[in-house]
Amino acid sequence: MSRAIKYPVYERFYTWQGEGVHLGAAAYFIRLYGCPQACPWCDSAGTWHPEYRPAGVTLMSADELTAVVAQDSPPGAFVVITGGEPILFDLGPLVDALHALGRRIHLETSGIAALRGALDWVTLSPKPFGTWPTPEVVARADEVKIIVHDPADIQAGLNTLAGLRPDAVIWLHPEWSKARERDAGVLNAITDAVKADPRLRAGYQMHKLYRADELDAHSDKRLIPLGGNKELGY
Ligand code: SF4
Repeated sequence: MSRAIKYPVYERFYTWQGEGVHLGAAAYFIRLYGCPQACPWCDSAGTWHPEYRPAGVTLMSADELTAVVAQDSPPGAFVVITGGEPILFDLGPLVDALHALGRRIHLETSGIAALRGALDWVTLSPKPFGTWPTPEVVARADEVKIIVHDPADIQAGLNTLAGLRPDAVIWLHPEWSKARERDAGVLNAITDAVKADPRLRAGYQMHKLYRADELDAHSDKRLIPLGGNKELGY
């Protein structure tokens, strides 16, 4: 019965993981539609902002998604479920179907709801100015990605992480418009934070340098302004 769930797929593509512990490894991305966080610099605003709403979103069952993963990526490539905010959906049937295919499943989430599905890896990106992650997701996280648009974002993100496992990796990522501009305030704040607390790591979105995602015909090629769009209120 649960296999009847249809997931709203904004885009799906085969590429490689551009950030975090699994940087550089082949990965199939499934980006689901919908997110209530409205981050002021969202680089996936097509998944929620009315101005960037796609003409249509493909509804796909767990079995249909598993079939395209099998068709479009080789055995050994893991699957990243991202968004949008994928935790809003019951991922159990999708994770089970992809496990039956022999794939490992990674989730990228801001952690605002209960986790569903036997996930192999959870990347938590807390949004301190939106809804904070639940204690359950913080405790489950394998790695954390704090997006730094302003130096104050570092401490604000860390404040959301009570109960994080000691072995979880905490990345500080310059928000991409800041990284692209080589914003010294943001980059130096990350350097200072890592030197002060060796548990932290300086990160980077390597896939944006390579533009590797765009090579797959199924990726969304529309230009979403990085760093937000003040005229549109985000
Ligand atoms: S949580 Fe992610 S998808 Fe949602 S608005 Fe923030 S950056 Fe965008």
